[in-house]
Amino acid sequence: MAYGAAIWHPPQPGRQNGKRKAPKGPAARMTSIQNKCLRVVSGAYRATPISVLETETFIPPLDLYLDARLAQFRLRHKESGMEDLVKNACLKIRSKLPRRRRRQQQQPAQTEGEARTQWAEAWTKDEHQESLPVHKVLISKWKQQWEMEKPEWGLLGARTPGRAAVKRHAALHKAESAVITQIRTGRIGLAAFLNKARVPGMESPACSCGWGKETAAHIIAHCPQFAELRHQIADRRTGRIDLKTLMSSPDEVRRLAKWFIQLKLLPQFNLAEELLYGNEENGS
Ligand SMILES: [Zn+2]
Repeated sequence: MAYGAAIWHPPQPGRQNGKRKAPKGPAARMTSIQNKCLRVVSGAYRATPISVLETETFIPPLDLYLDARLAQFRLRHKESGMEDLVKNACLKIRSKLPRRRRRQQQQPAQTEGEARTQWAEAWTKDEHQESLPVHKVLISKWKQQWEMEKPEWGLLGARTPGRAAVKRHAALHKAESAVITQIRTGRIGLAAFLNKARVPGMESPACSCGWGKETAAHIIAHCPQFAELRHQIADRRTGRIDLKTLMSSPDEVRRLAKWFIQLKLLPQFNLAEELLYGNEENGS
């Protein structure tokens, strides 16, 4: 999708302070396509903020990613001597043009390519004016942006952008992966979120047990209705529920996904439950 981005992607303005501006150029349309794809891939609810989808899937914001591709190209272009080669060739052609036309055309102080290289050099400098590798700059700008944009409501587990997000889902079935995304993002078919999203008929965020809001954390760690089942996801050594580990370690995440789907609290996973774990029940 990003093929040739160095040609068609204009540097995006004003990202230095982190906050996201609407992307310009082709990136604008492509961003909305990418966002749709992220929803499908992650199995997240529509109401899940884009910034969360990006960190959950470890896919950087598209315009930031394209900026990185462009910067990489410009720096390589200059380093390899290609930039000078092209510039000198252009000057030569210009000098051979008929005199009259030459006089009309003002020589620009800086070519567009040079301006972009200058942009790329500024883009890769940190606050101490030191040049960093492009991929590091990308992650650091993404982290800054995440700090500004992360939603206050409902997130379980820390999640600055990082590769761990991908490892978490690697061994999971699609349905398991989706339920983990929904648990981690807090955007899940339980009363607390459905009430917040003003779904008709969900006038209260409370759990039917009467002991708190029906959030994923409540179901996993506190709800008395699942007290007997809880030992299946408890820490094997301490016997306690360790939300942080359940939410992050690949093995634990798998255990949690299966447990949660088997509770059958979320109707959309019932078919998956039958298909994934049905045989196990028959066997026991
Ligand atoms: Zn409850």
